[in-house]
Amino acid sequence: MSDCLFCKIINGEIPSQRVYEDEYVYAFRDITPQAPVHILVVPKEHIASAADIDENNSHLAAKCLVAAAKIANSEGLSGGFRIIANSGPDSGQTVLHLHFHILGGKPLGTGLVATE
Ligand code: AMP
Ligand code: ZN
Repeated sequence: MSDCLFCKIINGEIPSQRVYEDEYVYAFRDITPQAPVHILVVPKEHIASAADIDENNSHLAAKCLVAAAKIANSEGLSGGFRIIANSGPDSGQTVLHLHFHILGGKPLGTGLVATE
């Protein structure tokens, strides 16, 4: 997708702080970290959101989760971490390229959604 921010990060048009890359997956530090460790894991193939995962591309979502586990290990998140994939307007998704936030490095609290 030529006008997709994360496609541009994947192909190097926009710089990023890469933490992991393989044939299927690219991972980089979030530009506005919300925890001591805040990394985005994305499939190299453009998938708009979790709502667009299907039988044909689900292996790419799985590759992202395999990468997330490796990254959590390499980042030293032995105390645990959270994976979030915002999908669609109600979730607050701002970049329409499937991405898994990995958050960790401190206790993250028990709430999954903002309560206010
Ligand atoms: P979401 O709101 O779930 O769509 O998440 C998008 C994330 O992308 C936000 O946490 C942003 O801080 C992050 N982000 C936006 N632009 C960049 C960028 N150029 N490099 C790294 N992270 C970015
Ligand atoms: Zn894209």
